[in-house]
Amino acid sequence: MIVSVASGKGGTGKTTVAASLTTVWDGPLVAVDLDVEEPNLHLFLRPTVEGREAAHLEIPVLDQSRCTYCGTCSDLCQFKAISVMGKLVLIFPEMCHGCGGCLAICPEKALSPGQRELGEISWGRAGGAQFLMGRLRVGEAMSPPFMRLVKAKLDEMLAASPGDAILDAPPGVSCPAVNAVIDSDVIILVTEPTPFGFHDFQLAWEAFAPLGKPMGTVVNRAGLGSKDLYGFCRDKGLPILAEIPFDRAIAEAYARGRVIADVSPQLRETFVSLRGVIRDLAGRSRPGEVAHA
Ligand code: SF4
Ligand code: SF4
Repeated sequence: MIVSVASGKGGTGKTTVAASLTTVWDGPLVAVDLDVEEPNLHLFLRPTVEGREAAHLEIPVLDQSRCTYCGTCSDLCQFKAISVMGKLVLIFPEMCHGCGGCLAICPEKALSPGQRELGEISWGRAGGAQFLMGRLRVGEAMSPPFMRLVKAKLDEMLAASPGDAILDAPPGVSCPAVNAVIDSDVIILVTEPTPFGFHDFQLAWEAFAPLGKPMGTVVNRAGLGSKDLYGFCRDKGLPILAEIPFDRAIAEAYARGRVIADVSPQLRETFVSLRGVIRDLAGRSRPGEVAHA
């Protein structure tokens, strides 16, 4: 089972939930930080890093001696990453998504694969779980292709050691966020009942609902703001899987980089219950109850 922990906006407690779920998970697990532009799951799980490697995107390199300037490659590229102007072929590596289309279609075989470094993938262990993290190179904008490489590494790890995966997805509803959740079995939307939290939560629901995946909500800082969020969830048939109270002790633990499931037995029980309702949502276990701290 692959569980994505997502949110409509940053700062709602998404990583907090992913870290706590990892801590209470009861089987083989890979905890994955897919928030590659700003990974911070490691700050809470404090993994031992066992390996790291640079991740590269395959980009076209031109052999001018073979090129006939036919323009087939630039006609194909939807990202305007290759352009033919008269007898000039311009390649813009920063805009290339590495689809390989131009290499495959060039009738003269004038394009060959080159490499552009996107970031670093590292892996190791965090407690009883395996850990995997992608960190996009500073200034790099091409996070979806990089995330695909992180996911390929996850597939490799799960093939070697079968189990579940918890993905800490990027916040928001743009390409990286959708790319993160698209292969999941379950999507957990973490939000807070504030006006901003509720607004972006609705956007997240609109973006992810068409994927048709089992989805549920974790309300962080419950007790703040209004009840609009609850009415929305009821109207959309979106189950509230757990509530984490607005509590100073939790905020202090978070600020110190602690996993909040370790703050109190009550919070631990909340996440143990959440684990059960997630399995239930994925259709894998007995019906669970809504977890409250
Ligand atoms: S498709 Fe090949 S031959 Fe045609 S312009 Fe592009 S690189 Fe040159
Ligand atoms: S590999 Fe794909 S994205 Fe990159 S230049 Fe070629 S067609 Fe465009």
